[in-house]
Amino acid sequence: MPSKLTTYRAKRDPKKTPEPMGATATRARRTKQRAAPTFVIQEHHARALHWDFRLERDGVLVSWALPKGLPVDPKTNHLAVHTEDHPLDYGGFEGDIPKGEYGGGHVSIWDHGTYDVVKWRDKEIMVDLHGERAEGRYVLFPTGGKNWMIHRMDPAPADFEAMPALIKPMLATPGALPS
Ligand code: MN
Repeated sequence: MPSKLTTYRAKRDPKKTPEPMGATATRARRTKQRAAPTFVIQEHHARALHWDFRLERDGVLVSWALPKGLPVDPKTNHLAVHTEDHPLDYGGFEGDIPKGEYGGGHVSIWDHGTYDVVKWRDKEIMVDLHGERAEGRYVLFPTGGKNWMIHRMDPAPADFEAMPALIKPMLATPGALPS
């Protein structure tokens, strides 16, 4: 059975990028035995700024790229482009991916914490996030191809820190995917 990280590793050369290549399956299984699964949101200044939203699940980080970050307002859904599963230790990664490499640009952790699964189905993932900045119930659902939407279910808390309103469009090249 191919590793869940086959696609992730195929896109990266460990000699050229400081990104983690992932623990072995055995180590991943051991790491998994925690009370609550973790999530991380990484701010990624790649070709276009986006936020990578990753949920720990079955030994990997299931991932989406959010061009506008997490939605603040339950009335406004945000695009979430499904990306390849990432290794668990990617959740601690911050640094610079060299220009010219896949996803080249600076990565920093915007928030991290734990989450509770409310539902996890092929067409609907509902989670309660417990981070320092991201808090509350969110639902993700596919809308075609790699595109999903992320919807905030709870009213935005009064002290919620909004993402920057003015950001560059994500797709510099029509059809290009965020990395
Ligand atoms: Mn990214």
